[in-house]
Amino acid sequence: MEKPSHFDLIVIGGGPGGYVAAIRAAQLGKTVACVESEPQLGGVCLRVGCIPSKALLESSALYETARGGFAGRGIVADNVSLDLPAMLDHKTTVVKTLAAGIDGLFKKRKITRVLGRGRLDGPGRVVVEGKGAAQTLTADFVLLATGSLPATLPGIELDGDRVVSSTEALSFSDVPSRLVVIGAGYIGLELGTVWRRLGSQVTVLEYLDRILPGMDSELAAEGLKIFKKQGLDFRLGSRVTGVRTLKKAVEIEIEGADPVRCDRVLVAVGRKPNSQNLGLETVGVQTDKRGFITVDAEFRTTAPGVYAIGDVIGGAMLAHKAEEEGVACVEQIITGHGHVNYGVIPGVVYTEPEIATVGQTEDALKQSNRKYRKGTFPFLANGRAKAGGHTDGLVKILADEETDRILGVHIIGPHAGELIAEAAAAMEFGASSEDLARVCHAHPTLAEAVKEAALAVDRRAIHF
Ligand code: NAD
Repeated sequence: MEKPSHFDLIVIGGGPGGYVAAIRAAQLGKTVACVESEPQLGGVCLRVGCIPSKALLESSALYETARGGFAGRGIVADNVSLDLPAMLDHKTTVVKTLAAGIDGLFKKRKITRVLGRGRLDGPGRVVVEGKGAAQTLTADFVLLATGSLPATLPGIELDGDRVVSSTEALSFSDVPSRLVVIGAGYIGLELGTVWRRLGSQVTVLEYLDRILPGMDSELAAEGLKIFKKQGLDFRLGSRVTGVRTLKKAVEIEIEGADPVRCDRVLVAVGRKPNSQNLGLETVGVQTDKRGFITVDAEFRTTAPGVYAIGDVIGGAMLAHKAEEEGVACVEQIITGHGHVNYGVIPGVVYTEPEIATVGQTEDALKQSNRKYRKGTFPFLANGRAKAGGHTDGLVKILADEETDRILGVHIIGPHAGELIAEAAAAMEFGASSEDLARVCHAHPTLAEAVKEAALAVDRRAIHF
């Protein structure tokens, strides 16, 4: 039987935004096709982003601990050595398994997976170019979820070998002895950490006078101190203007400073929307100056029946933000209701310690003259953190001075990325710091530090 070529919904892009939207639409009874050019579903996040980087972060942390982190704990591990190909294989297996899992979900939901590059070709039409002849599909609605691509700087060309983006930095065939990372954002800090742990001498060049722009500056400053202690070399206030590839090294040019030499350089200065060659002009989908697809509050583009979500529409370039938008967009189309609470989207940097944040930063509150109260609690005073030997960091809770409603929670410390979920749930329910402080937290857990920080908003932390 020939496959149908008309669908209620065609999703272009099989990343966390697109595949989740496809599943939600199928759950709501629609016929759905998902067009993806890569053989593996899951997008950048699963194939060359969040998941493989977390596999390497976990493995490299184990390696570092085995090499010196057991001191004083009664464990002797001699002759620990690195088998990089095996570590990379583990990462590849994790990715493969998860990607196959999405195929399974698609089958279960009877979602048609179309392999090839999709582009709009007039209202309700999508042309897919793959290995064989191009095929044309039609749909009542089209959802663009094409994500983003690594950005670079003027004067720097990525060669995929010595001057690379995050994609290649997940698969270096050997440990570079000197690695330079341009950009102290999410990617720079996570991958810089991986290669430092595996033995590289890592220098991070950052244009601003701080790391992690956009995150709470108190936490960023705390992180900087800790990462320096771990051996990352930071040169803040360094504007990179070019990269020269020499015979045996790469030379990075910095405005007003001596050039820096290294073996490999990772360019991690942000990402740009993947909105080129999508046939947007055939239906009148508009983009802004930077190429982000313009949408209204319900994810409608400027073309009737065409919607867009995720990195390609801008905002926080985070997988979970794209997922929320995918679900909300599809629910909006099908049921007339769908909503994303942009005030409560957590962000996590998976370094050691992790840095996690939700809601407004203290800097933003100050800037908007909002009156707030602040409670902090250090992991040093938390029994579980002490027992585990992970005492760096703190929890910080910001609450409205008058109503006590929680406005932001910022955590740097062990498992901060998991701890932040409680804060996000509390904020979704409009909780006050008093609400959080009155919740019984199991003892001894790291989560008690969140309760104590909530108590500290009212100056009544018990253990500090
Ligand atoms: P980023 O925006 O987080 O950081 C880029 C950094 O590069 C900034 O600090 C910026 O000041 C700096 N920079 C820009 N121009 C420079 C120059 N000429 N010289 C020196 N420094 C310069 O971007 P990223 O780290 O590339 O990550 C891209 C996106 O991917 C982010 O939006 C992030 O949300 C997402 N991401 C998220 C995670 C996560 O959730 N854990 C992990 C990786 C990536």
